[in-house]
Amino acid sequence: SLTGKVALVTGSTSGIGLGIARSLAQAGASVVLNGFGDAAEIERVRGELAAIAGGRVRYHAADVSQAAAVAELVEFCETEFGSLDILVNNAGIQHVAPIESFPEERWSAIIALNLSAVFHGMKFALPAMKRRRWGRVINIASAHGLVGSAGKIAYVAAKHGVIGATKVAAIECANEGITVNAICPGWVLTPLVEAQIAARAAANGTSVAAESAALLAEKQPMLAFTTPEKIGAFCVFLCSDAADTMTGDALSIDGGWIAQ
Ligand code: NAD
Repeated sequence: SLTGKVALVTGSTSGIGLGIARSLAQAGASVVLNGFGDAAEIERVRGELAAIAGGRVRYHAADVSQAAAVAELVEFCETEFGSLDILVNNAGIQHVAPIESFPEERWSAIIALNLSAVFHGMKFALPAMKRRRWGRVINIASAHGLVGSAGKIAYVAAKHGVIGATKVAAIECANEGITVNAICPGWVLTPLVEAQIAARAAANGTSVAAESAALLAEKQPMLAFTTPEKIGAFCVFLCSDAADTMTGDALSIDGGWIAQ
């Protein structure tokens, strides 16, 4: 049980982050939600998670692509709940275009959020974890942290970087009671992927159902989406004592994507 532990999940107002936050709350942790969205909807989700278990739930709107905002967010966890034991660096964005027409502004935004925010989160959260001699850092990378795909130059570069950063942090923390791992999901049906499916349907004049099937068939031997709940359950396992010697790894949950 994660009773008494405090978890921060960046980008947890939607998709995978919300699934992880829900799983950690179900396991008893107090949770700090983060991300963008409609204020009333975020408050509804916060209330839903707070009602699940003994843990408390707060929300902070930090833009984690900014280093100072990450520092403030980590500080918020410490002041609200007295510690930060579990850091899940999850917030991420995507942009799909060939290299020659990939906007430089999108490159910078993706590196800032998908890669630099992971560094900043660890930089600001690890000192207190080291003092308490217990911590779990889970960086949400991707199958695209291990292999490439056309059109995703910034995302693939950032996610490969996340896996490198995970290894360094794991080595630095190896004898501090802290594990650091990356999770590498394949396709998960979230707004991030729904936008890609809708763009393909519009470009090809096909249906969303046809493009969902095509998207899976291109990359995953297993023709089914992983769900945010399954990523959440994986995180709860990584926070358990059973996983306390698993560190520095890039752990796939991808329907066979990188087995090919
Ligand atoms: P999503 O779009 O559903 O959710 C992204 C979350 O990040 C939202 O809560 C959003 O508000 C938040 N966010 C965006 N910009 C932010 C910022 N600057 N500061 C703070 N929060 C911000 O996407 P998702 O599919 O759930 O993706 C979550 C993570 O999982 C990402 O890192 C993504 O790369 C990774 N991932 C997704 C898939 C997939 O198939 N969906 C596969 C592998 C990895």
